[in-house]
Formats: sequence, structure tokens, C-alpha cells
Amino acid sequence: MKKLIAVSVMLILIAGLLAACGNEAAPTPPAAGKTAEAASNAQHVEAVSSSGSKQPTQEQQPTVEKPTVDDQIEQATSAENEKVEEGIELIKAKVTKAVDGDTVYVKLESGKEEKVRFIGVDTPESTTKVEPYGKEATAYTKSKLLGKDVWLELDVQERDKYGRLLAYVWLSPPTKESDEEIRTKMFNAVLLLEGYAQVMTVPPNVKYAEYFREYQQEAREKNAGLWGLEAKEEKPASSQAVSVSYIGNKNSKKFHLPDCQWAKKISPANRVYFKSRNEAIKAGYMPCKVCRP
Ligand SMILES: [Zn+2]
Repeated sequence: MKKLIAVSVMLILIAGLLAACGNEAAPTPPAAGKTAEAASNAQHVEAVSSSGSKQPTQEQQPTVEKPTVDDQIEQATSAENEKVEEGIELIKAKVTKAVDGDTVYVKLESGKEEKVRFIGVDTPESTTKVEPYGKEATAYTKSKLLGKDVWLELDVQERDKYGRLLAYVWLSPPTKESDEEIRTKMFNAVLLLEGYAQVMTVPPNVKYAEYFREYQQEAREKNAGLWGLEAKEEKPASSQAVSVSYIGNKNSKKFHLPDCQWAKKISPANRVYFKSRNEAIKAGYMPCKVCRP
């Protein structure tokens, strides 16, 4: 009997602890956390591939658990692959809807719909909350991409944890990997050059990160787009966000990837930015158990 009481007291204590830590800590096995997250995000769930085990070997990712490639994507990839030199694999698609400046829906040639998040860039919010220049960025993306054919290039990590395809969006197929091709044909680069987006580098998808930093610098120097706003009114928060890889919470002492839903919920006053994982850990911050930065 005593033992039983002791056990139940312990259970209550554990439950209390979990509740105090918030949802973030609740599901102990990481896989369970991911599932709960996916389920809470119904519209993304359908985008997650449920198909079998086909996966290009070079995309094996030990740290990131991701859905496998669809047959359709794989077919599209290999079909397009023949046409492009230098091994840049492209997936042809038509843009059917612009969600915001850096996210669109596309229809693949197979007819499958995919939600696509552009790699390496971040446009101001215009959906859940409105940030300065968010509406302009959305309108720009819409005007340039809606109804158009694009060619998607993937990087190391194919999807984010919301099931969105992560891609570089080519307006026409590149003939080679060069500064000239990138700045004229890749929409991610165009967003940076025109000042509609800031660089957001999220490892391991860093293929064009160096180019992107350079394009952002050019836009800043010209006061293009959102950088023009900043010249008028000082916005330290947004200039800090540049080249930020991790966001910490001063209260919980946890740090996240910028895309993590928990990172987005941190109030601006409690945000602290880190350029590297090391910097965060040295400052005494613990990695988030959901996004596992
Ligand atoms: Zn997180």
C-alpha cells in the first residue's frame, strides 16, 4: 500500500513537471513529438509523403527525420535531369497559389500539389501577423510566379517538419551554376536582390548561402525594398534577424531553429539571437526538443 502511494505521488509529480515545461517537453520520444506536431497541422499533413522507401542516396540525412521522396517527384527529377547540365536536378512545376512572399503552392507535372517554402530567404510575415513590407513581398511573389512554370531545385533536406517541400525556385532552367545565372534566373535570389526578403540560412540547406549573403548586402547598400524602410525608421530587431540561424528564449533558456513553431511564439522582448549553435550553448541555452537545432 505504501508503495502504491509512493508511486502515485511520483506520477503526479512527473505530470506536474511535464505540464510546467510546456508542450515542448511533454512527448518524450522525439517521434511522438513529430507526429503530434504534424497532426496539429492538418493542411500540411497531406503534403507529407506516405509512400515507401524510395529515397535518393545522396539525400540520406542522419539527423533530420523526413518523409521519403514521392515516386512522382523522383520521376520528374530524373526526367528533367537529362536536360540540364552540371547535374542540377530540377522538378518542373506550375505555381497555383502564392501563400506569402516565400511560400507557394505548385502543381507538379504528375498533377500532384505541393506546398513549397523557398530555401535560404525569409520575407516579412503577411498571414498570421502583418510585418512591414509583408504585403508588398506577397504581392511581388504573386505577380512574378502565379500561373507560371518554375523549376524546383532541392537541397540536402527535402522537406521541413511541416511537410513543405524546400526548394530553390528557378524561373527558367539554369545552364550552369554561376552568379549570373543565379541572380537572373533564381527567384530566391531575386527576392533578396529586390529587398523583398532577408537571408535565413538553415543548415543543412546551404548550397547558395554565400551568394545569398552577397545579394542581401547589395540590396542593403541600395536601400532596396524593406531596407529602404529601415533607413527611415531604425529597426534593430529586423537587422538582428539577418543571418540568424538560431533563436533563444531568455525565459526558458532554450534555443530553436527560426522555423520552429515555438521560436515563432517567443515574444520579441524575450528573443535572443545566435549565429551558431555553439554561441547558444556557451550562453547557457538548451536545444529545443521539437526542432532539435
Ligand atoms: Zn524549437
